[in-house]
Amino acid sequence: MQLIQDFFVNMMIMLALLFIYFQVFREENLTPLSSIKRKILSGLYAGMIGIFLMIYSIQVETTTIVDLRHIPLLLVTLYGGALPGVVALIIIQMTRFMIGMNLSSFVSLGLLTSLYIGYLLFRKWNVSNFIKTIWMLLYSNFAFSVIIVYFLLDITSLFSVINVLYWLTSMLTGLMAIYTTEHLRKTNQLFREYKKSATVDPLTGLNNVRSFDEVLNRAIQGASANDEKPLSLLVIDIDHFKDVNDTYGHAAGDIVLTQFGKTLRSAARLNDSVSRNGGEEFTILLENCSNREALEIGERVRSMIEENSFAINKEISIHITASIGASTFPETVSSPDQLYREADEALYQAKRSGRNRIYSNEQTLKLYET
Ligand code: GH3
Ligand code: MG
Ligand code: MG
Repeated sequence: MQLIQDFFVNMMIMLALLFIYFQVFREENLTPLSSIKRKILSGLYAGMIGIFLMIYSIQVETTTIVDLRHIPLLLVTLYGGALPGVVALIIIQMTRFMIGMNLSSFVSLGLLTSLYIGYLLFRKWNVSNFIKTIWMLLYSNFAFSVIIVYFLLDITSLFSVINVLYWLTSMLTGLMAIYTTEHLRKTNQLFREYKKSATVDPLTGLNNVRSFDEVLNRAIQGASANDEKPLSLLVIDIDHFKDVNDTYGHAAGDIVLTQFGKTLRSAARLNDSVSRNGGEEFTILLENCSNREALEIGERVRSMIEENSFAINKEISIHITASIGASTFPETVSSPDQLYREADEALYQAKRSGRNRIYSNEQTLKLYET
């Protein structure tokens, strides 16, 4: 039957375009707090879905055109609020007028506007999106039926094929759309969370070892291509951190590590890449930084840590120290690939000769001592 085929096409268009939307807007879900630009773009997109649904709409009795254009309007108003909703409404209605200025296009204006206002009211309701959608759909279908009865002036048209089919398709497509939307929003959110956890250390918010490797490799390539710009690396390890854990517990150790991360971040320059490479070992990658400058920055880090008091809880604050190894390409290592190994070696020297100090690899020169 042609009508069923037409409604089926509408459902598929809806789902396909929803899927594309969530591929394009992967980085952030639409919410009432989204940027105005995002809201307008989403409204435009919903309007475009509405237009597609109109193009493939089902014509009944020569002038009455029915379709599922209310569903994108419903979704965008539900998630984004008034602004994206009104953008979608305007786009859909303007297109409707371009198709033809007749009674049914004015009926469409009245219908869509009252649906939009209804959706705005329903979305304030404190129930799940799924329940809201069911009520929004019932409301839309009811409004549609009222119009059918009013224009055909016949109460029996409530049971006409077109009306029954409309109720069924609208409910079914609406539920599929909300299910798909909720699912894709969740998937996109998980995607973002995984992406973040792949590069960020959850305890300190610094780069993790994986993104340290990436940043280092990129910097090495840059430094190899241009040895005018020296590249320095600081490897930093907390002294006797095991004692902190043993005395105050592992949870307190974690609190210290978090504050330690903040201290490093504030001691480093804005563009320096600060990472937690594992346990209580950290690095600061200093691009375009000579060995001399690296040692100065390292010394600043060292003294800030020494002076800072790390609050474990309201009553107890402790002092810790850290040892630092530094290396610089091309001054102290001849290949940037050796940066990490040599800085680590310098760190080992700093530990061995008494801790709480910074060493540079080449001459394992003890520059600062307390
Ligand atoms: P050194 O001065 O030689 O570096 O002594 P250290 O005690 O700091 O070094 P060691 O490598 O022997 O011990 C590091 C300790 O760091 C052991 C481990 O319990 C602790 N640690 C590693 N990762 C974490 C962490 O994520 N949280 C906490 N609380 N402790 C950690
Ligand atoms: Mg240590
Ligand atoms: Mg260590």
